[in-house]
Amino acid sequence: MDKKYRKVIIAGNWKMNKLPSEVAGFISALKKEMPESANGCSVVLCVPATHLAALQKFKSRRISSGAQNISHFDKGAHTGEIAADMIRDLGADYCIVGHSERRADNGDTDEVVNAKIHMLHERGITPILCVGESLDQRDKGLTLEFVRYQIMAALHGLTPEQVRRTVIAYEPIWAIGTGRTATDEQAQEVCHAIREKLREEYGALISRKVSILYGGSMNAKNCAGLLAQPDIDGGLIGGASLKPEDFGVIVREGSK
Ligand code: PEP
Repeated sequence: MDKKYRKVIIAGNWKMNKLPSEVAGFISALKKEMPESANGCSVVLCVPATHLAALQKFKSRRISSGAQNISHFDKGAHTGEIAADMIRDLGADYCIVGHSERRADNGDTDEVVNAKIHMLHERGITPILCVGESLDQRDKGLTLEFVRYQIMAALHGLTPEQVRRTVIAYEPIWAIGTGRTATDEQAQEVCHAIREKLREEYGALISRKVSILYGGSMNAKNCAGLLAQPDIDGGLIGGASLKPEDFGVIVREGSK
């Protein structure tokens, strides 16, 4: 099965939650929930940039740190922005790019998302690229076309090797933070279509190595079915990543 060629990633997206002083307690509670053997599963905690320094102390072979955004500028007069070099200096291994909340709230366009992905690869930070359709697009039957378009816009100009090192998260907008999850079949269909698109554009060797995650109200109860799908290599988890016990269940499922 092709899944053996890929890294399983269980990534938490804390969004704008918790305090830097809560990181240590969270990690010690999470460690109690972690399975004995990782079995190739990596845990990534994408925390607010203010929390990266606190998280850095707890990084290990099994727990990596991630940010949730960077500026598409490298440095200079951009008040309030955070550069890729800055998160790298604080040990970030991953960074979310193109989350639908940033596309909606902060106007991150496909061009900006593409610039950020280039910036991250140049700094050796792994992008977690989020794509996904709105409910209206799904209802109109436009899901696959739209997601393929988002992928190609975001990956534009990357080398095949950089594409291989990009993590893609399929996150239907209607499932994020709503408690309404895509069915196992819906999630698999889109993740498979993403892999097929990668195969067409970059070849089979690259496409079978890209980790594709599902995100959208994944939780302790529904994670098993989603993670068992052949094209789903992990999850990007918002709400349930804030509770060590729930997140631990998902990590254990990803480590099977
Ligand atoms: C997310 O923030 O990427 C996400 C999937 O959130 P939730 O799990 O809360 O739907």
